[in-house]
Amino acid sequence: MRYDPEQEPYVALRTKALESLLIEKGLITAEAVDAQISQYEQDIGPLKGARVVAHAWVDPAFKARLLANGEAIAELGLPGGAPLVVLENTPTDHHLVVCTLCSCYPWMVLGLPPTWYKDFAYRSRAVIEPRAVLREFGLELDEGVALHVHDSSSEMRYMVLPERPAGTGGLAEEELAALVTRDAMIGVAKVAAPAASGAAAGERAEGR
Ligand code: FE
Repeated sequence: MRYDPEQEPYVALRTKALESLLIEKGLITAEAVDAQISQYEQDIGPLKGARVVAHAWVDPAFKARLLANGEAIAELGLPGGAPLVVLENTPTDHHLVVCTLCSCYPWMVLGLPPTWYKDFAYRSRAVIEPRAVLREFGLELDEGVALHVHDSSSEMRYMVLPERPAGTGGLAEEELAALVTRDAMIGVAKVAAPAASGAAAGERAEGR
């Protein structure tokens, strides 16, 4: 797959041209476009995905439905969009998400992609040497763990359901959601157990 950095401005220009045309024809307004962008920038963050993950951790039936069909996020009142596939990370299988072509991303659950997700280096190396990439993110996978790299597209978006960390048995769903990071849902990190040692049921990490 060849990458031409010159295409980026072209895509931006083309988007602007399309937007102008749609506004000119009265099909959309500039305000509606701005509102949509601001919604993705501010309102839809990784928090929605974190809610999905936490719910899947506490409700096995929901988790089964979610893994069978990502549209199960609708049960939490989340809108769909592009088809969504949810991949479960386990002690034996680790999933990593990339879009080698551009920056396809599960916006509906994770908001806007991080800058590195769109970088050519990540897009190419995630496929060529995924373990090295994970190591740079601070995640060392055991040799025995099977690593699966998923290439997103406009037809298919992927979200990782990370492993629930040990020692979180007593946490409420909202507390679990607070542990889930965007990176864990892309597959470049794991969800860490609550920072404070012995953060068992009832204990709260302070200073957050
Ligand atoms: Fe893409």
